[in-house]
Amino acid sequence: MRFILLGPPGAGKGTQAVRLAERFNVPHVATGDLLRFVVEWETDIGQRAKSYMDDGELVPDEIVLELLRTRLSRGDANEGFVLDGFPRNVAQADALEENLQEIGHKLDAVVSLEVPDDLIVQRLSSRWSCPTCGRTFNRPPDAGGNCPVDGMKLFQRSDDRPEVIRKRLNVFHAQTAPLIAYYEQRGMLVHVDGVGTLDEVEERIAKAMEAAKS
Ligand code: ADP
Repeated sequence: MRFILLGPPGAGKGTQAVRLAERFNVPHVATGDLLRFVVEWETDIGQRAKSYMDDGELVPDEIVLELLRTRLSRGDANEGFVLDGFPRNVAQADALEENLQEIGHKLDAVVSLEVPDDLIVQRLSSRWSCPTCGRTFNRPPDAGGNCPVDGMKLFQRSDDRPEVIRKRLNVFHAQTAPLIAYYEQRGMLVHVDGVGTLDEVEERIAKAMEAAKS
């Protein structure tokens, strides 16, 4: 199963991608995580990427494509993957298509996870993450506290400040939303309502994917 989760920041792509990866037994590949990893390790690429991320802008395609190509060439991605946060513009979608064609693979489906902007701003400004297990929790913006699983102090992502959230949403509408029409034209798109409990949304996505595959 090879599929993409497409949607605005805060639509729940990351959370659902983890669940679906487990369900379909494929790796979860998130370019945001790959980028945060190279930023944390202060590699050359990471140093270039950081300023774009802090401003809520897209990191240049060549950086993201290089990270993605390396990740997808690992053996565990051979049988499938769930892509989260990639592609984010038409150039990246074209590059992915070319890349998959070269190795004789194709995408099964592209899921468009749909959530209204107002709800997104509310969700992201109350998103707290555990530095150890990566789980995220919904708490008031000034609450914080510790991870109920690991006991670690929860943190807020530096790009989850209200002004950066707005910027990321604008970038989504300008650059990523055109991919909805792009994949619709290719007959690959499935629309899923992203408002509901985590279990409800997971079931909706899984059902839509099974239908797209058969
Ligand atoms: P979200 O979907 O909540 O914005 P991500 O973790 O997917 O979170 O992305 C965080 C940041 O990483 C983005 O704002 C952007 O700067 C960068 N990024 C992630 N994926 C890509 C990509 N495919 N192309 C360009 N930049 C990316």
